[in-house]
Amino acid sequence: MSLKEKDPLIWAYIQKEKERQENTIELIASENFTSKEVMEAMGTVLTNKYAEGYPKKRYYGGCENVDAIEQLAIDRVKKLFGAEYANVQPHSGAQANMAAYQAILQPGDTVIGMSLENGGHLTHGSPVNQSGKLYNFVPYGVKEDGRINYNELRQLIFEYKPRLVLAGASAYPRTIDFKTIRESVDAYNESIGISTKPKVLSDEDIKYIEKHKCYFMVDMAHIAGLVAAGLHPSPIPYADIVTSTTHKTLRGPRGGIILAKSELGKKLNSAVFPGTQGGPLEHIIAAKAVCFEEALQPEFKLYQRQIVENCKVLAEGLVACGFNLVSGGTDNHLILIDLRNKGITGLEAQQRLEELGITVNKNAVPKDTEKPMITSGIRLGTAAVTTRGFTEDDIATVAVLIAEGLKFGKDTKFTDDELKIAVRQLCKEHPIY
Ligand code: PLP
Repeated sequence: MSLKEKDPLIWAYIQKEKERQENTIELIASENFTSKEVMEAMGTVLTNKYAEGYPKKRYYGGCENVDAIEQLAIDRVKKLFGAEYANVQPHSGAQANMAAYQAILQPGDTVIGMSLENGGHLTHGSPVNQSGKLYNFVPYGVKEDGRINYNELRQLIFEYKPRLVLAGASAYPRTIDFKTIRESVDAYNESIGISTKPKVLSDEDIKYIEKHKCYFMVDMAHIAGLVAAGLHPSPIPYADIVTSTTHKTLRGPRGGIILAKSELGKKLNSAVFPGTQGGPLEHIIAAKAVCFEEALQPEFKLYQRQIVENCKVLAEGLVACGFNLVSGGTDNHLILIDLRNKGITGLEAQQRLEELGITVNKNAVPKDTEKPMITSGIRLGTAAVTTRGFTEDDIATVAVLIAEGLKFGKDTKFTDDELKIAVRQLCKEHPIY
């Protein structure tokens, strides 16, 4: 029996969602459309299998096939990012972050991370998230020009003596300088007597390091696809631990990964299972393996390049209509519009664009005074529309549609119906599946 026959209600909603995705312009920066093959791997018998543990070290029998799949996923993602160690089991980006913290921190330890209103993620120490309740997060932010304040970050490291410095963001449109942050972390470690140069360590040295060393972690969830394609500097040479989601620019199934130097591998494995998770989702791990193989292909580089090109065109189109972009533009796949000069909130803009068939999310901007459910900004990303084949010309039209839709265009004669038709037309020209 098919799903349609057995559970027509769920089936019908899935069809409606498919139609919604086909007929709207998806600009949510954290979303993408996976390949059919990634999706196929997710909907398989692998979902039936329990496999607590790791390949060849499981708590259950019958794991020979999932062992082979998980090992392939590990090998492919290590190759993709040039990492020494990989864990492909985290169920999500949030799970990956919590496991990474657990591997190297004790409750109450100090961590320096980017604040939510400056572009960080909830799991980077927000008081409403477990990360902010368990650890003592000290936030850093951006300067007036919307770029990370690396000097402030360095000062905070020396002042607060953290056990971890965290980089990476959900709403930061610029390249992140991992090398500079690494240098600050190294300088701090040197200042407390922890040398970055290899040397023979006594038991006392090891105890001291375990108690005081400051680690550097990067959450590259948003930019993972760009990193894989060499379009954003890789954090791998600089960070002790790198976490990511697999479903944003990387275009895989919803999920998380952890990459690291091999010496942290044992602690990280224990922190994922049994530390923070139970049985791995082997159907999702298979889909991750498919996604990693896709990302290793030359076409993936071209796709990522087009994402960045499209984002630049979107930024230019919006600036031409008087929109204020945080940091003035973008280096990556996303844009953050500060709407305060337009007298409209993020929520209003999101709702208005949704009526026309353009999906975006409201987003806090630096020094935002609106509540998190209102905000003064919207975040736009080009990963999903690029997957469906939008190129520069289409994106230039999207910029006009946004401006006209929010009534800040140069040519306000368009009716809502005309704008909706234009959105539909663009979608029709670029089917997703
Ligand atoms: N880290 C960053 C930087 C993110 O942007 C996100 C999600 O938006 C996450 C972690 C959490 O990922 P997930 O939603 O898979 O838990």
